[in-house]
Amino acid sequence: MPTIPNVYDAEPIPHAAMAEVQRILGSGDLFRYTADQSPVAQLETEFAEMMGSKYALAVSSCSAALFLSLKAIGLPRDAKVLIPAFTFGAVPSAVIHADCIPVLCECGDNYRIDLEDFAAKLADVSAVIISHMRGHTSDMDAIRKLCDQAHIPLIEDAAHSLGTTWHGQSIGTLGAIGCFSFQSYKLLNAGEGGIMITDDPDLMARAVIMSGAYEHNWKKHPVLQDSFARWQNKLPLYNQRLNTLSAAIIRPQLDALPRRVANGRRNHDHVAKQLNQSPWIAVPEKLAPEERAPDSIQFNLCNMDADRTRQFVDTAAAAGLNVQVFGQSRDNARAFWNWQFLTDVPELPKTRAMLMRACDVRLPARLSVADCDVIARVILKAAETVMRPNRALQQV
Ligand SMILES: *Cc1c(COP(=O)(O)O)cnc(C)c1O
Repeated sequence: MPTIPNVYDAEPIPHAAMAEVQRILGSGDLFRYTADQSPVAQLETEFAEMMGSKYALAVSSCSAALFLSLKAIGLPRDAKVLIPAFTFGAVPSAVIHADCIPVLCECGDNYRIDLEDFAAKLADVSAVIISHMRGHTSDMDAIRKLCDQAHIPLIEDAAHSLGTTWHGQSIGTLGAIGCFSFQSYKLLNAGEGGIMITDDPDLMARAVIMSGAYEHNWKKHPVLQDSFARWQNKLPLYNQRLNTLSAAIIRPQLDALPRRVANGRRNHDHVAKQLNQSPWIAVPEKLAPEERAPDSIQFNLCNMDADRTRQFVDTAAAAGLNVQVFGQSRDNARAFWNWQFLTDVPELPKTRAMLMRACDVRLPARLSVADCDVIARVILKAAETVMRPNRALQQV
C-alpha cells in the first residue's frame, strides 16, 4: 500500500528568511519600534498593497486582531456580537476578551451562514464577525446588504481565507476590518502572528494605539496623523505587537502565496471530484461568486448512523489517515457545545446536525496530486468498507 502523506508537516521557510533572521539576530534589534523601517512595518506595507487595502497592522495573532477590531469599533461593555456557530473557539473567546457577548448564528450543511437566522438575530446585535470557516465564504452580498441597511459594522475573520475572492474581490476587504492569522496551519506560517486590514484611518489609528504604539510610536505608521492625535493617551495599551523575527519569516512567503493558493485549490478540487462519486459522501458546492483557496477539505457523510460514522473514522485511521468529524470528538474546539466558557450556549439544531456528520481532512498545498489520490482512495475505501462490507472485501 502507498504511504499516506503527512498532512501536518509544514513547507520549509524560504532561504531568504534565514538570511534576514540571521541579520536581525546579529543586530539584536527585535522590537518593531526601534528602527524606522522595521520588517514589521515593511510587512504591513506589502500586505496592505497585496490586499488592495489602505492600512494594515501586524499583531501577535488573529485572535488579537479580532479583539482589537471590536475595541477599535468602540463597542461598549456587554454589546452583542453576532458570530457563526461553526467557527474556531478563538472567535467567541475574542468577543469575550473584548467584554462583549457572542450571539451564535446557525450554519447550514454547506458550512455557511444560515441567512434566515442571520437576519432574525441581526436587529439585536451591535457588530458582526463573519468567520469564513475553513475558507468557506458565506453569501457576502446578502450579509453586507443586511449589515449596511442596519448600520452594523462587519468584521471578517479571514484566518482561513487568505487568497480567496468573492466576485474577484479579496476576502478580508468586504467589511470594515479583515483579520488574518500567521499561525502554522494557515497559508503564511510564522508559528504565531496575525494582521488586520482596513480602509478606515480612524479605526486603524485606534487599533494601532491599543496594539501597543505607546507615546509617539504611532508616528512610525503611515496613517493619517490627525487620527492619532485625536486618540493619543485616551485608549488602553494592550501590547499585542508582532515581533520583528516573525515579520522577517513571513515577508519572503508573500511571493509563494499565488502558488500555494493555486495548488491548494487544485488539490481540493481533485479530491472533491473523487469523493463526490461515492453515494456515502457529499462535498458541498462553493457559491458562484467565490474562488476558494483551501488547504483542507470538508465533506458530509450521507446515510451513516453514529456507529457507522465511528467505524468510518476508525477504518480511515487504521489506514493511516486522520479524519475528524467535528461533532464526534469530545473536545473539538469547533463544536459550539464545547465552548463551556460561554454563559449561555444555545441549542442550534442545524449547526449541530451539520457538525455531527461533517468531516475535516487537511490537504496542504505542498501535497502532490499523487498524494491527494492516496488520501481520496483511503476515504472512499473506508466508506465502502463500512457501508458495503461485502463489496469492499471483493475489491481487495
Ligand atoms: C486559526 C484561526 C483563528 C485564530 O488565529 P490565531 O492566530 O491562532 O489567533 C481564528 N479564526 C479561525 C477561523 C481560525 O482558523
